[in-house]
Amino acid sequence: MALRVALRAVRAAPRLARRPSLYAARAFSTSEAAPAAETPKPDAPPPPSTQEHTFQAETRSLLNIVSNALYTEREVFLRELLSNASDALEKCRLRRVSNEPTADGDDELHIAVTVDKERKTLTIEDSGIGMTASELGTNLGTIALSGSKKFAAEASKKGDDASSIIGQFGVGFYSAFMVGDAVTVESRSADPGAGPAYWRSEDGAETYDLGDGGSKATRGSKITIQLKDDAAEYLEVHRLKEVVQKYSNFVAFPITVDGETANGVGAVWAADPREVSDDQYAEFYRHTFKGAWDTPFFHHHFRAEAPLDVKCVLYVPSFHAEKGGMARLEPSVALYSRKVLIEDPCEAVAPDWMRFVKGVVDSEDLPLSISREKSQDRRLLDKLQDVVVRKFLRFLLDKAKQDRAKYLEFYAEYSTFLKEGACHDHGRRADLAKLLYFDTSSSAELTSLDEYVGRLPGDAKDDDDKIYYLHAPTRELALASPYYEAFKDSKRECLFVYNAIDDFVMSNLGTHNGRPIVAAERATFAAGGAAEEKTEESDGDEKAPASRKLDDAEAAFLAQWMVRTLDDRLESVVPTDRLSSSPAVLADAESGAMRRMMALVAQQSTGEALPPLPKQKLEVNPKHPVVLALHDAAKRSSDDATALHAAHQLLDTAIVAAGLMDDARTMIPRLNKLLELALLKQDK
Ligand code: ADP
Repeated sequence: MALRVALRAVRAAPRLARRPSLYAARAFSTSEAAPAAETPKPDAPPPPSTQEHTFQAETRSLLNIVSNALYTEREVFLRELLSNASDALEKCRLRRVSNEPTADGDDELHIAVTVDKERKTLTIEDSGIGMTASELGTNLGTIALSGSKKFAAEASKKGDDASSIIGQFGVGFYSAFMVGDAVTVESRSADPGAGPAYWRSEDGAETYDLGDGGSKATRGSKITIQLKDDAAEYLEVHRLKEVVQKYSNFVAFPITVDGETANGVGAVWAADPREVSDDQYAEFYRHTFKGAWDTPFFHHHFRAEAPLDVKCVLYVPSFHAEKGGMARLEPSVALYSRKVLIEDPCEAVAPDWMRFVKGVVDSEDLPLSISREKSQDRRLLDKLQDVVVRKFLRFLLDKAKQDRAKYLEFYAEYSTFLKEGACHDHGRRADLAKLLYFDTSSSAELTSLDEYVGRLPGDAKDDDDKIYYLHAPTRELALASPYYEAFKDSKRECLFVYNAIDDFVMSNLGTHNGRPIVAAERATFAAGGAAEEKTEESDGDEKAPASRKLDDAEAAFLAQWMVRTLDDRLESVVPTDRLSSSPAVLADAESGAMRRMMALVAQQSTGEALPPLPKQKLEVNPKHPVVLALHDAAKRSSDDATALHAAHQLLDTAIVAAGLMDDARTMIPRLNKLLELALLKQDK
């Protein structure tokens, strides 16, 4: 980040005015191993070379905020110091690989955490790049050096939010004061010409002391914290190991706590994807994520540089646990910055529908203190999420194209999440829609919306070239549905969906690439053309003989009679030409989709019964024998019992076909009556 870089540059600027030493007594002691003469002693007069330095007022106040208010969990001080040590080791490694002369050249690159229970000190020692005397003065805790006025002014204007400004600039070292009363840094630069070790000591007050000597004989830095009384937990080896594993497990250099290595897993995401084997991916997966003992279905490992630096590995497990209404999955993507943990899980890096994905996202553009409460951090996180999701969607789309069978296997397990995204994640709806696959009338294989559109003859302006779907309980019932008749007869393709969720997804999508997505119930084209042609599915279907058809007057009479007779159930009756083998269908599809959705919700939550169906609009096939006979019977006698029962049944059958019948048992008495009437008639 520009500001971070700017700040680093500022650190190189000449430091604060130096005053003659006024070395104050300090409650501080360093490691026993240190030769007494070289170690800054709290209660002895300072060595001649010691100087006291005073912080600028703004710096002081900002540092106070850092040590008191920056983090709510103070265990992160260790993460900050280990992160600094790891950076120092990395710089040293780079120096070595570029063959620059390095003090103690062959020393192992590592970090040692040790405690002295008697003295109540915690020490973090690294064999990294170290600091020269002037770097000890200028690098540490100089946040507010330049532009200090601005930062401090902003900080005080914002009151409590001051930490948000500081957080942007990395003040890792000062987090030591969250657990310590006093801190000494002893350091020896890796620069062979830099001379002996130097130390710097401070207790969080107005000044710090700087001197030469100290116990650090070899290259690197050693930070000794005099722990506060209430921070005794950080004298416990198990507690320190716990914190190391939590935040710094993936740091590339060995970290020992009390001599034992506490970290150890390679940070797969930070490696070059070409250099990681499938076994390594699987190994990392099993080692890193809770409950991940399976072999992941997919992994996707990528790096991005713009608009943010991102290194990321995402896993799709081989199964998910939300099936069958089992517990909801928790988000499972962790956020790191340069291999140091920021948050796990981090909800901000992936949308809710991606909760089936496990992974790690690492961005060096993020401060370790990132917080969603700060607006500039939120913007960063949004950008990060944008990169992660875009890459993931692209990955899935590529999979679908390159290895359809494998993608469909994935789809069978995870489609509900993609559908959830398509309904809720409005900004990504169009991309998610491309990943959805549906059953279709034209083939036994699933098809995507793009593939369906690819088979359409015309463009979107043409009414016939919309995307049609039909909701039915099964493929067989879809093929037998009266709503499918016009498709079958005119050889149009129709997608089939078999559950309320898909139905909901379709009506939610509304369009795909500008083409309307329309329920088959609302299709307006006529059956015909191939109506008489026998197709495989139409075998055994009874076709209405084309000989007679209700004329306009007859149709009007039938409509009037039916609406009067079925007064509380029917709103209107109109003839239609979209049916070939069925006598009637309901015209109002939208209410059907809603009702199915409501039925699902009611079933799952309250268990309450649904309100009765509203009055229906019925479309009748004017060529169908049942419709013709019903007209004739009503004409003969407007209260003919058979005609009355038949009219109700005609409506109920249409309700069943539309999937709107709440309980088909209500039809039983009437069906028995109709059987009786039909058989009696035969007897005569
Ligand atoms: P930052 O978050 O920017 O690292 P710090 O206050 O933690 O802020 O550290 C400031 C600077 O001090 C670092 O950028 C680095 O140059 C130097 N520094 C801190 N710790 C070490 C260390 N262990 N070894 C060498 N240099 C260090």
